[in-house]
Amino acid sequence: MKKDEKTTKIAIVRCDIVSETCPGMACFKAFNKRKVHFSDYGEAEIIGFFTCGGCPGRRVFRLVDSLLKHGVDVVHLSSCMLMEGGYPKCPHIDEIRQMILKKGVKVVDGTHH
Ligand code: SF4
Repeated sequence: MKKDEKTTKIAIVRCDIVSETCPGMACFKAFNKRKVHFSDYGEAEIIGFFTCGGCPGRRVFRLVDSLLKHGVDVVHLSSCMLMEGGYPKCPHIDEIRQMILKKGVKVVDGTHH
């Protein structure tokens, strides 16, 4: 890593309901292999992996505050929050996205698909 190259600090927020059945392997696999929505990162690390806290995403506001103290650069909305079709898409996704953006943190839609 070049001296002036900054490590990007990433956090992932995911669906609390889906977390009952998913330990998050696909999100970490995509990050570790720099695939799909992580493909553009060079030096990067995951500093947080948390659930929204349940509808309507009540935990996001205060956990993003905590992440900001640790220099978070970007929050990924997990792919399970964005699914459509057989699984219902999160009905609060727009509010959650805006809540994070208002704190000055970049948001990326998706993790592993
Ligand atoms: S707010 Fe969205 S992401 Fe959170 S539990 Fe409800 S449906 Fe899942």
